[in-house]
Amino acid sequence: MAGARAVTGSPDSPTAPEDPLDDVLAKARACRVCAAHLPLGPRPVLRAAEGARLLIVGQAPGTKVHESGVPWDDPSGDRLRAWLGVDRVTFYDEGRVAILPMGFCYPGRHARGGDLPPRKECAPLWHEPVRARLPEVALTLLVGQYAQAYYLGPRRKASLTETVRAWRAYAPEFLPTPHPSWRSTNWLKRNPWFEAEVLPALRRRVRALL
Ligand code: SF4
Repeated sequence: MAGARAVTGSPDSPTAPEDPLDDVLAKARACRVCAAHLPLGPRPVLRAAEGARLLIVGQAPGTKVHESGVPWDDPSGDRLRAWLGVDRVTFYDEGRVAILPMGFCYPGRHARGGDLPPRKECAPLWHEPVRARLPEVALTLLVGQYAQAYYLGPRRKASLTETVRAWRAYAPEFLPTPHPSWRSTNWLKRNPWFEAEVLPALRRRVRALL
């Protein structure tokens, strides 16, 4: 994996090795590490419970999710659920599906439009402590370039399209996808192999896991 990570229990880690998952989640939800950079303040949005089989690593909450506290509760989430072939009840069953964005809090907007990237502090602090307590996770969906950069590191290809096209190389642990936002609509048209090859395989895997 690329990027420096705080090992659970190290002096840099906000968690202790003996912390159960619920304590780690509570500490993450109380995190204020990059509060000074967050225009709407910290509101970490993440979900996980022991027994989860699928982990979804996305980007960062938008303003709607910041308000609701419910990840993927938007048109992107609807498209992601269609990709996975699961309904909302299954998707939001955290005992089956864990959700960790690369940045847990809304990062703000770029001056030239669009949301800023996920805060870089977040994943190195929190992902490993949470993932270490999810031993049943068999597939991690890497949604978008930030998740792919962090988890695939040098194994990532030169572009998101090439990385997604090489999805078989990352199986069975990871599966990279584009972000399912409206911006992906043209990408999907240009890359019909994604819906023809990747999604059926993804749905089969998810059905078997959940
Ligand atoms: S984005 Fe992550 S590191 Fe920053 S305050 Fe939120 S939970 Fe903490």
